[in-house]
Amino acid sequence: MELNQLKGIGPKTISYLKKLNIESINDLVSYYPYRYNTYSFDQLKETDETIIVSAMIESAPVVSYIKRNLNKLSFKTMINNSIVNVVIFNRAFLKQSLQISKIVTLIGKYKGNTFTASDIKFDIKSGDIEPVYHLTSGITNKAISKLIKSAIDYGNYIDRIPEEYNTKYNFLGLKESLTKIHFPEKKIDIANARKRLVYEELFEFSFKMNYLDKKNKKSEGIAKNFSNDKIETFIKNLPFTLTKDQLKAVKEINEDLASERKMNRLLLGDVGSGKTIVSTIAIYASFLAGYQSALMAPTEILALQHYFSIKKTLEKYKISVDVITGSLTKKEKEAIYKRVEAGEVDLLIGTHSLLNEKLEFKKLGLVITDEQHRFGVNQRSVLQKKSTSPDILYLSATPIPRTYAMTIYGDLDISMIKTKPSGRKEIITKVKKESEIKDVLLSVLEEIKKGHQVYIVSPLVDQNDELDLTSVNLLKEKYDLAFQGKIRTEIIHGKMKQNEKDAIMNDFKNNKIKILISTTVIEVGIDVPNATTIIIYNAERFGLASLHQLRGRVGRNDLQSYCYLISNKDNARLKVMEESNDGFYISEKDFELRGHGDLFGTRQHGDMCFKIANLKNDYDILVQAKNDSNEYIRDQGYLSNDYYKNIVDNLEIVD
Ligand code: ADP
Ligand code: MG
Repeated sequence: MELNQLKGIGPKTISYLKKLNIESINDLVSYYPYRYNTYSFDQLKETDETIIVSAMIESAPVVSYIKRNLNKLSFKTMINNSIVNVVIFNRAFLKQSLQISKIVTLIGKYKGNTFTASDIKFDIKSGDIEPVYHLTSGITNKAISKLIKSAIDYGNYIDRIPEEYNTKYNFLGLKESLTKIHFPEKKIDIANARKRLVYEELFEFSFKMNYLDKKNKKSEGIAKNFSNDKIETFIKNLPFTLTKDQLKAVKEINEDLASERKMNRLLLGDVGSGKTIVSTIAIYASFLAGYQSALMAPTEILALQHYFSIKKTLEKYKISVDVITGSLTKKEKEAIYKRVEAGEVDLLIGTHSLLNEKLEFKKLGLVITDEQHRFGVNQRSVLQKKSTSPDILYLSATPIPRTYAMTIYGDLDISMIKTKPSGRKEIITKVKKESEIKDVLLSVLEEIKKGHQVYIVSPLVDQNDELDLTSVNLLKEKYDLAFQGKIRTEIIHGKMKQNEKDAIMNDFKNNKIKILISTTVIEVGIDVPNATTIIIYNAERFGLASLHQLRGRVGRNDLQSYCYLISNKDNARLKVMEESNDGFYISEKDFELRGHGDLFGTRQHGDMCFKIANLKNDYDILVQAKNDSNEYIRDQGYLSNDYYKNIVDNLEIVD
């Protein structure tokens, strides 16, 4: 359902909403608050804490302009029977709304008979619950709330719980649940609505997962014929010895490849555990058996990274490797399609570009998806359809606890790499305030003197706005100043042209650039073993899982590595990073501290970004939804439900 059908919504608002990934009425009603403010009024007292009071306006507000970007609004009020001066900064625009004898709610601090408000609210009663939404500039909490209200009234959104399960559990109606989650009157409203909405989300999710699994399980695979001796020689000739877990994973994968059962396996291993080489061996085995392979990565940088490193390994074996990304010209792409179709390419690595319907393989036998949670179920199934029955290998660095993995991934087989290659030192991690940056700079200088390199990561102010690069530019200036321009620093970010990015990555790899400043684009996969330090600014903005992934960019050989988490806020969560280098431990802690954790990174796409479900706390509902959706598939209930039938049809697109 299109957003422009809502009353009073213009193109500007639509563009703001788009930044929040809200593109339809369904998206809007399921844009749930991430927390709630509960208002209970305090007595007026002098404290260092923020208090909430009810106040009656006694004098007309006066605006004074202090300097550019700073104005002050002052007025007198009556609070608990005493006259109090109120000031609030940068809200000159509120002047019109603050008439004498109006009653308002003030949030702020009271000291020396002045109330310094951080916010002023209208129409709030004690006991009111106010939902709080994630915002982007240009749109206020109130505006979102209003839009959601009109979307709920508009109706016409889809109830994704099939009728039989609605009846079975006697859930609240969808409209009622949405009203309660967005406009709760009592706390219990939220709990009741959540139950239903969580089930709905998890049911749909499990349905997709289960449906794909069932299809995969049913299909016969191709029994691949290759010489185990050749594989052993290949392993022997590697520049390092494989770890026990890597060898076990190789064995499990090779057995799958050789069997006529179709492989459907997840290779799970912490960052730096060495999943790439395990996949490369699978590609080699498929090549020996006469089959092509495809490897899909979520970002261009990662695809190229794989391309260079895998090509280097496979070159000696006369295996031709190619890479396809969005930034190739049409002509270049078409040349690749031709070669792939003619069977001249044995391994094609790429981003989403691999999904293009014009791409056809001569004999595709193995499909590998890296960082698989980044892709939607649909995207993965499209790639599989490029051959009658390719073996499937998913790679994931998401250190998800095994029980959850089993439930989420259904009947997927799992190979786990638990231990990292030996000789790796623990990365020394320290949380620092910006005022302590000198210590960090000294350590950076030490490392650079030793010939090592440094990553600096600064999250974008607005994650959706890749063009807002002020923060990275400022950092570059600071570091250039600190090192008097004697050390080469460069910036890399997602919106740069591919050849610019390539040039910078190449110079960094070749140690020409010493300090690489980036937005989060280096999050996954980048492998520059000579980089020994990573500095992450505004670290509190990242989930622990993301921090762990980012930290995994260093400590990639036997050099001692360092990670500095810069945050001006005291943060118990960040301490976990100082404590441990173990992704599984960290993900458990994240679960404990935040419930949902940030298991799947900060990105908004992929299957695993739940809008309301919380895998830890809602585990029981997940199990229930999983069983129900299995039953729904078995009994073919979905055939008479348009919404699910459509999902199934999309999962089955054959190009
Ligand atoms: P990830 O699991 O995060 O994808 P990679 O496959 O990129 O990790 O491996 C990280 C680094 O470790 C790479 O430089 C790789 O060459 C190296 N590596 C992989 N396996 C071993 C091993 N058994 N011994 C030593 N180094 C290894
Ligand atoms: Mg990897």
